[in-house]
Amino acid sequence: MVCYECQQAGKSRDAVALCHHCSAALCSEHALVLSDPVTTEYLMCERVVLPLRARFFLCGTCREALRQKFDNYREEATAPAVTARVQEEHAASA
Ligand SMILES: [Zn+2]
Ligand SMILES: [Zn+2]
Repeated sequence: MVCYECQQAGKSRDAVALCHHCSAALCSEHALVLSDPVTTEYLMCERVVLPLRARFFLCGTCREALRQKFDNYREEATAPAVTARVQEEHAASA
């Protein structure tokens, strides 16, 4: 499959992912990787965010559109909080 965004720009590049929202095929440059919080309900409707986050691909168009609604809800996979946790784990094992 060919990247939809590249095709629109008159280029042809292999797709590596699909946008979760519009299902457009995307190359590694146009696929935006976000991390999606996974929540669960405990006892009396208490909502808890679990430690591991799910992977989530979006195209630029859907990312901008959904941001209006979610804003800080979905963070970039490279968010400082995630990086910091990896470094802590690394330091702990050293
Ligand atoms: Zn592309
Ligand atoms: Zn999309």
